Amino acid sequence: MIKEANEEGKKNIVKAFSQSRDVEDRHAELYKKALSDMLADRQTDYYVCQICGYISEDEVPDNCLVWDALKGKFKPVK
Ligand SMILES: [Zn+2]
Repeated sequence: MIKEANEEGKKNIVKAFSQSRDVEDRHAELYKKALSDMLADRQTDYYVCQICGYISEDEVPDNCLVWDALKGKFKPVK
């Protein structure tokens, strides 16, 4: 039973790290876009998830894409 618990714990750690890496990849992508928008003088609205830090462009997603959070957890970034 302890062995099973440890296996489960490892899986959760691996899952948390891979989710965090996905969010970081997304952030890098958005920084590049924000920079090109700034240079091109375009306006993009961003919404950030208060749970995982996921950032959405132009629309509030129905759900957190990393955790199962509610739409209300997204706040506009000014
Ligand atoms: Zn989220």
